[in-house]
Amino acid sequence: MFAQSVFRLRCACWLSAIGVLLLLGGCAEEPSTLERIQAEGTLRVVTRNSPATYFQDRNGETGFEYELVKRFADDLGLKLEIETADNLDELFSRLNQTNGPVLAAAGLVGSQGRQTQARFSSAYLEVTPQVVYRNGQQRPSRPGDLVDKRILVLKGSSHAEQLQALQQQIPELKFEESAAVEVVDLLRMVDEGQIDLTLVDSNELAMNQVYFPNVRVAFDLGDAQHLGWAVAPGEDTSLLDEINAFIARAHENGSLQRLKQRYYGHVDVLGYVGAYTFAKHLQQRLPRYEAFFRQAAQTHGVDWRLLAAMGYQESLWQPTATSKTGVRGLMMLTLRTAQAMGVSDRLDPRQSIEGGAKYIVWVKNQLPESIQEPDRTWFALAAYNVGGGHLEDARKLTEAEGLDPNKWLDVQKILPRLSQKQWYSKTRYGYARGGEPVHFVRNIRRYYDILTWVTQPQLEGTQLADSSLHVPGIDKRKPAENPPL
Ligand code: GLU
Repeated sequence: MFAQSVFRLRCACWLSAIGVLLLLGGCAEEPSTLERIQAEGTLRVVTRNSPATYFQDRNGETGFEYELVKRFADDLGLKLEIETADNLDELFSRLNQTNGPVLAAAGLVGSQGRQTQARFSSAYLEVTPQVVYRNGQQRPSRPGDLVDKRILVLKGSSHAEQLQALQQQIPELKFEESAAVEVVDLLRMVDEGQIDLTLVDSNELAMNQVYFPNVRVAFDLGDAQHLGWAVAPGEDTSLLDEINAFIARAHENGSLQRLKQRYYGHVDVLGYVGAYTFAKHLQQRLPRYEAFFRQAAQTHGVDWRLLAAMGYQESLWQPTATSKTGVRGLMMLTLRTAQAMGVSDRLDPRQSIEGGAKYIVWVKNQLPESIQEPDRTWFALAAYNVGGGHLEDARKLTEAEGLDPNKWLDVQKILPRLSQKQWYSKTRYGYARGGEPVHFVRNIRRYYDILTWVTQPQLEGTQLADSSLHVPGIDKRKPAENPPL
């Protein structure tokens, strides 16, 4: 008995010793990049501070690249640490530093010239390089038209590389590069006539078009290109494999598509003309009413940019707007609503905005408790547009379908049924133009998103812009003073 226990004990000792040896053996081997990151628990990412990549908004860090890379870090159970490089050369040199960031997520084209500086993941976005000019100038339509123009692009960018390649065919072509600007600055310079042309990616233009009413696309220069994340050159593919698997999943489960739609969908939704019309109105009309929106927002505890977005959807910020159905004013109130909200003159923009703010808050308070933010805001807008009764009908139909009546994503799918007899005949309030609130909410969310970007307080520690309306630049920003909805 005793001998047997000793034998077992010895076996156990030996086994543990072998285990330790195996472990040690394992440790002796260099850990892969991925293993090292996992041991550290932090994913260090370098990016550019720009509206299309990474910036601070009222809720903190945001941006297309940020959101995507945050999901990647979350999937791996890692803490995300973002650093920004001042220009593209610096970005690549940081990526190549020992103990530097392990990944660059910055709207980068995996171009030929970059192959010695980085390895690129598979594509998460397809973009087209676009030559951009100022409205009113002669529109260039082919590469030969770039000669004798003042062209400025980002230093070290895929575009500088493209133009260099083009110089082989067109030796007279000249262009300048700058490390001191960002894409928004290039577009601003075209908009203001400081340079003739620039070359930017279609996604960056889509995002920024709304800020620059004079900027127009001249033509696409070359074929579509792919944006990818970059890692340092080398043999170790552990991180790159993980990134590629993540990107493949994001393509498959639709999350990438949704993210693209949110960040770059403005031009799709507004239309190209709508985007620059919005930009024009943003500069010319909104400043006249901004103070009223802010005042009403403060009185009623809502975000002023939501009210402004509603006002744009309703009247394009025109105080004397009227419709055949009898709604009037900047917020297009019906006579009944106006009276109920204490508005005596619907064409007075201050009163109209005040009435609209009071009304949306009232509508929101009527909604069932079960609808939580942020959906609660979208439901309130839908009810504002189509009426609470119809919305309730749509929620019942949604539930009957086995979907969630408290989620806007589900209810918006069902709302258009209110205009089909087979469905509305079963509802309490009957026929409604159910597609309308869906567009209404979608548009307002777009305008709201745009307004959120445009009104970010900028320049932490330095001077704040005089007006809260400005185009986002490349500066560090602090979160906005307005609370989220
Ligand atoms: N995609 C560009 C690049 O890879 C940077 C952004 C831009 O210039 O539009 O260099």
